[in-house]
Amino acid sequence: MSIVMASASIKTSELSRWQPWLAEYNIAGFELKEWITLLALLLPLLCVVAFRKYRKMQYQNKKPFRFLDLPQELRDIVYEHFLDDPIYPPPARNEIQRSTLNWMRPARWTSTSTSPPVRHESKWIFLANKQVYSEYMDMICKRKTFHFSVTPQTYKPATSTPPSAFPAPSTQDNRVWNISPDLLSKVQNCSLKLVTTSSMLGVTDPRSMTSSSWTLGRRMREQLKHMSNVKTFTLDAKALGDPLWNPLWIWYHASQSLKMLGTEYSDTVPRGPQLTGITFSLDTWSPGENYLRRDEASGGQWVWYCMKNHLIGTDMGADMTVREFCAKLYQECSICRVDEEGDTTVI
Ligand SMILES: [Zn+2]
Repeated sequence: MSIVMASASIKTSELSRWQPWLAEYNIAGFELKEWITLLALLLPLLCVVAFRKYRKMQYQNKKPFRFLDLPQELRDIVYEHFLDDPIYPPPARNEIQRSTLNWMRPARWTSTSTSPPVRHESKWIFLANKQVYSEYMDMICKRKTFHFSVTPQTYKPATSTPPSAFPAPSTQDNRVWNISPDLLSKVQNCSLKLVTTSSMLGVTDPRSMTSSSWTLGRRMREQLKHMSNVKTFTLDAKALGDPLWNPLWIWYHASQSLKMLGTEYSDTVPRGPQLTGITFSLDTWSPGENYLRRDEASGGQWVWYCMKNHLIGTDMGADMTVREFCAKLYQECSICRVDEEGDTTVI
């Protein structure tokens, strides 16, 4: 009992010692304990308010802006980061169903003998609406090169035989590439690569056909005729080895057939664009074929050049025989010959 009384007297004396200090915190009638309780109650509330404010600021920072509100110049800068050369047909990839927009897919394209450029970005964003797609495609048509190819892997024979001699195949099934005439009309730079086997000429004897009657050639002309704004249009005719056929026939028919485009010999309406250059190659070693370039300065005449770009001579034109073609293709370059003779003399 005396112990309890003693501790009570100590507590009373300690309380009296702290009394002045506590009195200072007795503000507006609140005791310290009440202040602490109030603070404990308000603290979570303050935390919640602060957190909400922080989230709101974050949301405002991430709030999407309207891309179309940007001026055209800035939109063009964005498009520039996504420009790639379109490739028709797109390189095969995991058997994904093909569509006209397939070249826009993000690419992990590896493969093929045509070695397409490596692509990494997805371009599905440009399908967002018609305006964005149209602006982006306009830029591609002006700045990039459309690559068209026909290879033994992608070649599809015509689905039906035309009933008369030279009717233009117009059905979608006979299209060589899955591209619309409207888009073709905007293309400014085009590269056409033919990797051709003898069977793709569609005849058993190449001497029995004319270049203009080549079915694949006619189908290509029928599509390419829509390119009304072309500035550069090149053909690379590559012949795949065949023990029974001379590759000359493939080169001859491919070049003569497509040289018809844009000339009075064209069998399409409209006449279509004229090629600007033609190169020839083999899948194996070759002695070095000359190539053709259309010379605008001389009225658009075709001119042969050696592999070192020396002038060989003018082309014979639409009536050229395969023998004359062969002579031009392998005509020796007088400048290169002089150089070689000089080198030999020095040795
Ligand atoms: Zn030369």
